[in-house]
Amino acid sequence: DPLLSLQSIAKTFPNGVTALSGLDLDIYQGETLTLLGPSGCGKSTVLRLIAGLTQPSEGVISWAYPRARKKLSVVFQEPTLLPWASAFDNVYLPLRLAGESRAAAGERVMEALARVGLADFADALPRELSGGMKMRCAIARALVTEPALILMDEPFAALDEVTRFKLNDDLVALKKDLGATIVFVTHSIFESAFLSTRIIVMSTPHGKIIDEIDVDPAIVRD
Ligand code: ADP
Ligand code: ADP
Repeated sequence: DPLLSLQSIAKTFPNGVTALSGLDLDIYQGETLTLLGPSGCGKSTVLRLIAGLTQPSEGVISWAYPRARKKLSVVFQEPTLLPWASAFDNVYLPLRLAGESRAAAGERVMEALARVGLADFADALPRELSGGMKMRCAIARALVTEPALILMDEPFAALDEVTRFKLNDDLVALKKDLGATIVFVTHSIFESAFLSTRIIVMSTPHGKIIDEIDVDPAIVRD
């Protein structure tokens, strides 16, 4: 059974723009799914619907188990770190808000920072970090709560190519480690092939799914 299932989804905004119509999509536990398509084809809208940040005009999103929808993390294109808080505190806050004790949270934060290569930068403020490091910090923050589902909206789009390359690599390694389900939005064919186990190709108008490709990771990465 899919972890979640989007059924006959339509989304029309108050300004009359129809971003999606008749969208059917099943997302399976443990897969890394990329939504690939040109700017404006409705990829972000799909993520926002899954995250519950916006409601469909038609159709339903059903979850394998009700708690799954509460166990999701979102990483946006611009890492939205709190500017006055250290890397440590940015990752620590969601855990404390989730009710984790200080000691346990502290340990998990250091683990998450180490995982993304920021162990030595726990005390740094966002403005002291490079763009790639800020993104790593945002990823650590998304991982630390051990989400069942991670939604990423063009997380590397604002970064230079070398940093993107490195982060792509790191994400593949992280994914092996975590086993979480990831839905990744991109307009880069390279990124989608490199990162995912399945590519959904979307197009305009109305976010029509025009192709679906199963990726054999061994072929792309070896
Ligand atoms: P993508 O992520 O593929 O670039 P989006 O999902 O952001 O595409 O947008 C799909 C379409 O819906 C675009 O035409 C966009 O301008 C429109 N759109 C997105 N969000 C809104 C909104 N809040 N209000 C009106 N139109 C929107
Ligand atoms: P991206 O292309 O990086 O996914 P957008 O710039 O399309 O992001 O969207 C950023 C925000 O603006 C979202 O909240 C989206 O819903 C909103 N938005 C996008 N397009 C429109 C639009 N045409 N009218 C109103 N809001 C929009």
